Amino acid sequence: MIKRIGVMTSGGDSPGMNAAIRAIVRSALAQGLEVVAIEDGYKGMVEGRMWQMNSRSVSDIIIRGGTMLGTARLPEFTDRAVRSTAVRNLRENGVDAIVCIGGDGTYRGAMALTDMGINCIGIPGTIDNDVASSDYTIGFDTALNTVIQNIDKLRDTSSSHHRCSVVEVMGNHCGDLAVFAGLSCGAELIITPEKGYDEAAILAKLKHLDEVRKKRHAIVVISEKITDANALAKKISEVTSFSGRATVLGHIQRGGSPTAFDRVLATRMGDKAVELLINGVGGHCVGMLKNEIVSMPIAEALALPRKSRDELLALHERLI
Ligand code: ATP
Repeated sequence: MIKRIGVMTSGGDSPGMNAAIRAIVRSALAQGLEVVAIEDGYKGMVEGRMWQMNSRSVSDIIIRGGTMLGTARLPEFTDRAVRSTAVRNLRENGVDAIVCIGGDGTYRGAMALTDMGINCIGIPGTIDNDVASSDYTIGFDTALNTVIQNIDKLRDTSSSHHRCSVVEVMGNHCGDLAVFAGLSCGAELIITPEKGYDEAAILAKLKHLDEVRKKRHAIVVISEKITDANALAKKISEVTSFSGRATVLGHIQRGGSPTAFDRVLATRMGDKAVELLINGVGGHCVGMLKNEIVSMPIAEALALPRKSRDELLALHERLI
């Protein structure tokens, strides 16, 4: 029977992580467990930075973006000797089990720790929505809404100036932010890593929209890490009569108060993670599939194929 659990956030921060921490702490306390905060993910775990939480420790955080626990990356955590130090620190602090909030890297760390005798449950916290075991990750909806607000503003000025706005969004090799933002904003083009980059086809399409369809403006949403958005905008200016302008949204996408969707998702997932730990489960991750909060082994989750967005992209094509 576990008595004391740890909670940590790892990888990139995302809005709603705090709501998950709050749910984990309050749910665990309500069921007679003690909770220890682990600072800065696996880094703080290895350095022994942990402290006991109470109900008040998570007051007022549900509305805040970021993570009150801090987050970090520690590539050395793949090394068993480094993890042994973490396990020793956890044992010294009486931590029997942990909830790890983060992306797939965090899940790998959680699986490795479970194999060393500390049961861990993963919760998907990332704005990228790149975790296949959950329809949505915590933070994606908030980031998406931030992207939409910004693209809507760009549209106002784009139509006034016969501009083509190239907007680069985050996603870290996952096109979901681009696809959902493109659909939400009525973008003319959506370019994702999954679809691939065909510059000649992109320019031909914009030329058609400009010369044949007589569009007043065009919005191109492109995922990060595909090409230089500024260079693409320059080519658009050269090839079409649109004035191409690039906007790289960057880290503003990661901040801000979480949406209602993310708060509810995080709250449900946090509570589920505690339930799993109480039931002696380790090495699993929590997800939301078809609006149900579910869990599965992390190894199984990591082997799932990517979510296909072909249908959404085909729908987008029909509506341009
Ligand atoms: P994001 O999606 O925001 O990038 P992430 O959890 O995928 O989040 P990573 O940097 O990939 O972010 O992983 C976070 C941390 O998890 C790493 O810095 C490392 O400490 C740990 N980690 C990653 N992979 C492994 C692994 N194979 N074994 C043990 N620990 C790992």
